[in-house]
Amino acid sequence: MRQQGLPIKHSVWVNNLLEMRYLSTRGGTEPVGFCEAVAQGLAPDGGLYLPEKFPDLSGKVEEWSELSYPNLCHAFFQHFATDLPEDDLYEAIRMAYCGFSHPETAPLVQLNEHWQVLELFHGPTLAFKDFALQLLGNLYELQIKRSGRDLCILGATSGDTGAAAISGLLGKKGVKVFILYPDGKVSPLQERQMTCTGADNVFPLAIEGTFDDAQRTVKELFGDLSFRDSIGLSAVNSINLARILAQSVYYLYAWLRLSPDVRESTTFVVPTGNFGNVFAGWLLTRMGIKMGGFRVATNQNDVLHRLFGSGEYQLGEVSPSLAPSMDIQVASNFERLLFYFLDGNADRVREVMKTFRDTGRYEFEKFSIPGFSSSSTTDNEIPQIITKIWNEHNYLADPHTACAFKDLSNHDPAVILATAHPAKFPQVFEDAGLTRPTSPILEDLLHQSPIKYPLQVNSSAVRSFIEQKLNPLSSGS
Ligand SMILES: *Cc1c(COP(=O)(O)O)cnc(C)c1O
Repeated sequence: MRQQGLPIKHSVWVNNLLEMRYLSTRGGTEPVGFCEAVAQGLAPDGGLYLPEKFPDLSGKVEEWSELSYPNLCHAFFQHFATDLPEDDLYEAIRMAYCGFSHPETAPLVQLNEHWQVLELFHGPTLAFKDFALQLLGNLYELQIKRSGRDLCILGATSGDTGAAAISGLLGKKGVKVFILYPDGKVSPLQERQMTCTGADNVFPLAIEGTFDDAQRTVKELFGDLSFRDSIGLSAVNSINLARILAQSVYYLYAWLRLSPDVRESTTFVVPTGNFGNVFAGWLLTRMGIKMGGFRVATNQNDVLHRLFGSGEYQLGEVSPSLAPSMDIQVASNFERLLFYFLDGNADRVREVMKTFRDTGRYEFEKFSIPGFSSSSTTDNEIPQIITKIWNEHNYLADPHTACAFKDLSNHDPAVILATAHPAKFPQVFEDAGLTRPTSPILEDLLHQSPIKYPLQVNSSAVRSFIEQKLNPLSSGS
């Protein structure tokens, strides 16, 4: 077993580090502290929060190379969560990762001389989103203690986010969670992950309609500022800064486990949808960590692949794929990268986002950022890749992870991020004539009874449902 790392210091406040503040990509908000940025999710001017400056970690990381996963996460977050007492932060992190089933939390598996897989699916819902959402739940709890105000979490999901958010928030004091999903359109396993928790603070709302209908309803409710304020509404989608920072940690953990002679030449290959995950990795390069590069691997919904190829950012129709958690039209975290691409010019960010919102497209003369490459994978190719990886490496890659192998050079060092456990998508393997992967966590769900709340997809129905659950006495039920 790896040593549990450095002992925890007992000073209560982090006082040897400068206070970190957070700015909006659109420049219309006063800087806020970490806890406030996390509680708000989206900045009031519609932008996304980013740190005002970055710590230089280049001189520190060697000292961190032997730390366990939670201790590395703690060392990293001390530079960002400077308004949280150190011991509270440590406890939030320790609790977040103690439910992961692998002792390394994020193990690296060697496939051949050059390729390693970073397995990010050992959390309670078997997808990488657990890394961020298990921690976010604990940070919300701390924020409620600080502010004395309860929080109400509202989100729409097509599968993985809802399951991970519910798992991260179930049973949290002062938090109620409402997750809308399209009835009959998420996989049966994903639905069970949301509806079989037994927690009384979680309300999975099975709506009549599509994911886009669910998403629109959620946006409408967030747009109602007085409602939003009166119930302390917060968002858990990947625009939340805490989610991004929590994900930076596993890139650093993996980088520290590479042999030093390949650290600067190893590419991280990232199955990508909303651009949150790959952006989290790239942020480390702003902190003095020398990484080989990032490969943005999309499925057939290839808006980002086209952007890196041609400079054109163009809204398309979502086409449902075998890697459903990457089925997106607009990559919400792209705005964060844009902010740096435009040298921190918030006026230009606002302009680009406005043009994009009004016309559905934006054309950059050239969109190239050193270190980025991209690929796209069709639904025909996914089963072929899965079969090839199985035959050549005896490794089962889930359909999202499979996209990362598209056109990947066999001769260059790469870390491939495995974003979901193959057992979450058993049908693809069966159809490809391979053994159906299983997981005891998912088998267990089959014996629980689901609880869900069927609802019409309109904002007033959802609003009254929420109000009734928040104030069961005043509405008389
Ligand atoms: C959410 C998700 C992705 C996409 O991640 P982004 O941060 O949105 O780019 C990829 N794979 C799986 C399994 C996911 O759940």
